Amino acid sequence: MVEKIAAGNWKMNGTGAALEQLAAIAEAADANTCTTVICPPSPLLSRAHDAVDGTSLALGGQDCHAAASGAHTGDTAADMLLDAGAAFVILGHSERRADHGETSAGVAAKTVAALETGLRPIVCVGETLTEREAGQTLHVVTDQLQHSIPADPGTGLVVAYEPVWAIGTGKTATPDIIAEVHAAIRAHLTERFGKTGATMPILYGGSVKAANAAEIFAVDDVNGALVGGASLKAEDFIPIMRALSAA
Ligand code: PEP
Repeated sequence: MVEKIAAGNWKMNGTGAALEQLAAIAEAADANTCTTVICPPSPLLSRAHDAVDGTSLALGGQDCHAAASGAHTGDTAADMLLDAGAAFVILGHSERRADHGETSAGVAAKTVAALETGLRPIVCVGETLTEREAGQTLHVVTDQLQHSIPADPGTGLVVAYEPVWAIGTGKTATPDIIAEVHAAIRAHLTERFGKTGATMPILYGGSVKAANAAEIFAVDDVNGALVGGASLKAEDFIPIMRALSAA
């Protein structure tokens, strides 16, 4: 049985006022049916931790540095996220790869730092529209996996397939597209990591919402979702959690 995970990525959205939404999501979270995670902006983590204390909602960061500490202005170390209440960290999101020039080798170094600290990395991979149209999707995704996930990831690692052209655009990949890529990801993980790879959760991300969640969760090897826009409001995210629990 593969763990099911509903993860929300708040990106650069949310101040103290958003804690109300977080509390409502936390109240609906039920660890018996699926793991639920919200990744708020780092300045909100400690207060978010207080707001969800005693519930089964987990928190995550949206990035961490590969180093434990040092002269890295503006960056956050993995153990700082842990200390602030995070259990997960998103790594290699396409917005970080595009906006900050993150490479898969850099993502692998961050993944090692996260795992050593005890955070569960959610490693993101996905092709651009140009790459899809050039027929390079499986090559790009496999190459990102190969170089973003370190040789010995142990347990706890999560993979998110997020086609860049489907993020924040309202365009969702079809079930056939998702099935093809998730099958390739599962094959890659199983070949590299054996039993551990066979049970690593693989999330789909890209304009997931209440209206399409059940259809996406019915696809083989889709073990949950990484959700951006629709995770900001409890009324949008809770139906996605419920669809995953029911899948
Ligand atoms: C994301 O930020 O990872 C994402 C998938 O965003 P959205 O759901 O808004 O497309």
